[in-house]
Amino acid sequence: MTFSPEVTYARQLDRQDTLADFRSRFMIDDPDLIYLDGNSLGRLPLATGRHLQTAVDEEWGGRLIRSWNEGWFTLPERIGGKIARLLGAQPDEVVVADSTSVNLFKLALAALQAQPHRHKIITDDLNFPSDLYILQGVCGVNGRSPTHIQIIPSPDGIHGPVDAIIEAMDNDTALVTLSHTVFKSGYRYDMAAITAAAHRAGAMVLWDLSHSAGSVPVDLNSANADLAVGCTYKYLNGGPGAPAFLYIRRDWQKKLTNPLSGWMGQRNLFDFDLDYAPEVGIRRFLTGTPPVLSLAAIEPGVDLLLEAGMDAVHTKSVRQTEYLRRLWQAVLAPQGFYLNSPRDPEQRGSHISLGHEEGWRINQALIQEMQVLPDFRQPDNIRLGIAPLYTTYEEVWTAVSRLHTITSQRLYEKYSHTRQTVT
Ligand SMILES: *Cc1c(COP(=O)(O)O)cnc(C)c1O
Repeated sequence: MTFSPEVTYARQLDRQDTLADFRSRFMIDDPDLIYLDGNSLGRLPLATGRHLQTAVDEEWGGRLIRSWNEGWFTLPERIGGKIARLLGAQPDEVVVADSTSVNLFKLALAALQAQPHRHKIITDDLNFPSDLYILQGVCGVNGRSPTHIQIIPSPDGIHGPVDAIIEAMDNDTALVTLSHTVFKSGYRYDMAAITAAAHRAGAMVLWDLSHSAGSVPVDLNSANADLAVGCTYKYLNGGPGAPAFLYIRRDWQKKLTNPLSGWMGQRNLFDFDLDYAPEVGIRRFLTGTPPVLSLAAIEPGVDLLLEAGMDAVHTKSVRQTEYLRRLWQAVLAPQGFYLNSPRDPEQRGSHISLGHEEGWRINQALIQEMQVLPDFRQPDNIRLGIAPLYTTYEEVWTAVSRLHTITSQRLYEKYSHTRQTVT
């Protein structure tokens, strides 16, 4: 089929879509609302409500504290084991705990403490700011061996500075940590290539998979990645503020110590020993009591992705982001929109950022009068997230045609330049 900017072409693509039925497994409260923000907060799987009802009524209400021995206690590794299958990792290499920021802190500091003779962390300026703040905090507490951060700038604000990162790796580098898929432009690093280069320099690598898990193929084991963290509330559809996951390659697990050494990581914790003696496996990176209800909410979304298969999800993601890119070229580029994402689908995740001088006000018009929910990232990015399990081609087409209406009729002019708290 050859590309056409007509809606009939979008409908034809939807009819041929083998994943189309998965949309009916999500709550679509308002069919007219086009949701392109699944990369910030995934939609609610219908099964999640039922699953939580059982967890509340039967497990908490009925079984009370007995539920800890009937499944709650092992929930972090049981759900971690399922997430591992989406990431090309072994089930005992992933656990669910805390937030992405906290997990990054634990793993980054553990990696530095394991290599006191090395003093440098390498990252880039496309990384998520919280990751950079956490690294600054990590350096602040790593007093035994003062560490500094080298933030390598992207050449264009879109693509990762791959060559400069590899060049910066030396025998003083303890850790290379990057967002695998970066949050603004959607650029995606070659995990295997960066990891191999870091290993040649004797450094460890910590990947933030927040925008990759559930949207692109990730193969931590074949890349021989050391460490990883990531969100479950984005493409995994785990719900607002759902706990995050962390991955530690098997051979590292006994060599790394959790700097947030709480009782959930303690061996035989109910012996209530006064001294910390961590568990042997991945559980040693747990800290406090897991948030059971939020943890339980993650499972149905992960199950949907396992059922669909990451290959099929990624194939559709590439088709849809390519479709969006071609529509941009045909319909939106003449209206002053530019592409703030890589052109090559091999180099990006599942969202496309479009820039425009009037990006902020156009984004306001989209939300307030066009029934399209994207999100906005400074200074001018309208970020359009594609979640292949529920985004349709026709939704992509409609969003583009509404963007065209807003600019061609200058509907954005009545909106203010003032920014809100959550964008
Ligand atoms: C979304 C995101 C986070 C969020 O971290 P929280 O601790 O859940 O707030 C962190 N890092 C990256 C790269 C992200 O995309």
